[in-house]
Amino acid sequence: MSNRLYLKYAEPKWVREGAEPFSVIFMDLDNFKNINDSYGHSYGDLILKQVAKRLVSIFNDEGLVCRQGGDEFIILYKKVKQKNLDKIAIKVLAEISKPYNIENYKFTIGASIGICRYPADGDSFDSLFSAADTAMYQAKYSKSNYFIFTRELKEQIYQTSQIEQALHIALKNHEFHMVYQPQIASKGALYGVEALVRWSNPELGLIPPDKFIPIAEDSGLILELGHFIIDQSIKDIAKLSNINDSIDLQLSINISVRQFLEFGFLDRLKNSLLSHKFPSRQLTLEITESIFIDDFDYMLPLFQEIRSLGIKISLDDFGTGFSSLSMLKNLPIDELKIDKSFIDNISNNTQDRAMVINILNIASNLGLKVVAEGIELPKQAEMLSDFKCDIQQGYFYSRPVKLLELEQYCSSYINASHSPANHSKQDKLPESSDSQKPY
Ligand code: C2E
Ligand code: CA
Ligand code: CA
Repeated sequence: MSNRLYLKYAEPKWVREGAEPFSVIFMDLDNFKNINDSYGHSYGDLILKQVAKRLVSIFNDEGLVCRQGGDEFIILYKKVKQKNLDKIAIKVLAEISKPYNIENYKFTIGASIGICRYPADGDSFDSLFSAADTAMYQAKYSKSNYFIFTRELKEQIYQTSQIEQALHIALKNHEFHMVYQPQIASKGALYGVEALVRWSNPELGLIPPDKFIPIAEDSGLILELGHFIIDQSIKDIAKLSNINDSIDLQLSINISVRQFLEFGFLDRLKNSLLSHKFPSRQLTLEITESIFIDDFDYMLPLFQEIRSLGIKISLDDFGTGFSSLSMLKNLPIDELKIDKSFIDNISNNTQDRAMVINILNIASNLGLKVVAEGIELPKQAEMLSDFKCDIQQGYFYSRPVKLLELEQYCSSYINASHSPANHSKQDKLPESSDSQKPY
């Protein structure tokens, strides 16, 4: 078995003009640290020796097996065809996951594998190892055990880094703006809006939040962006109330976990409310349930403090994740947003309909408000009204719109009567309006 030093020495032989194609197989043992931590390094080392032995015997003279350090192995494999790579990856995973007998203990471990090819995916060991490493992370991420580097992955990584670069200067360049999607209460009254951020970059064009929010979260840029989102939305909706006394909108803002973890989050929020004279009881923070997975103990007192100020907490995308109806009573929340996927089929899928009715019943017992989102069809709106769903939101009522259009929307609301039969027609903004665009 070879080590990292040997690889450096071998590089000119494998990577040179006219060299044969080969593939790089990068293998990382899953949760190996747990074994070291629980049983000690001597057990860990013995297992690693057996892993190496198994690898060497699998590849024989068809591949060069190297210990990359820690619990990572690199194999330079002489085959490159897709079917050979699939076959070998499956074989390695099967062999590695067989039990290891060390003294009186029996261990089993899993592994993740990333594979790339020379010369297609890199022209040096460094670039190849990095591509194989990326593929390995993709395998872990998609929980698929192995992943072969693809052009699409390369393109995706390139795009991500392009977006991240552009994000760094986007705030300073004022490339973000907010749009607001109306929420309609039962009997057709205008209840509030959800604030949604939009990014328009001169080179990349209009980038959807689904694409850039996760990148902003990973890179930490969500903090600065979050400051803008919170302050701008509060400022905008406060302004609406100032213009017209009869407008008293609820404002819902999406908040990422990272933002809650930022030191001084709540002080900043309070400052925004104060400086724009926006009442805290008109504010809702939308969170996703992932927040409760790792950070429940930290979040609980924070959410209690937030709620003691009169600010509401809403659980977004409800029904898509791990939270079950029975857990709801233990969560520090005031509102549920039923995910669009349930609303989509409410009129033709009895299971989805039953689920929605169930959610509504339990929420009502627990004193939680329910918002149904993604309503696109009159039939869906009608059914939800029949089921006594408190609040509805979706393209059927309005797309997310800029502040100016929201102002017009509010005025037309005040002028019109508030019967449910009326609002669905008049609330669609004029045909000419920008609101027809999927902002
Ligand atoms: P979300 O919080 O679930 O927001 C609802 C999404 O559904 C929005 O997409 C909205 O435009 C879209 N939508 C509303 N009604 C309908 C409908 O009837 N049909 C369809 N097909 N879609 C509808 P958007 O604005 O693209 O946002 C996507 C996601 O990006 C949001 O999902 C949220 O997770 C995130 N996001 C957007 N703005 C912000 C923000 O300001 N802060 C944070 N942290 N995340 C944001
Ligand atoms: Ca939301
Ligand atoms: Ca949602």
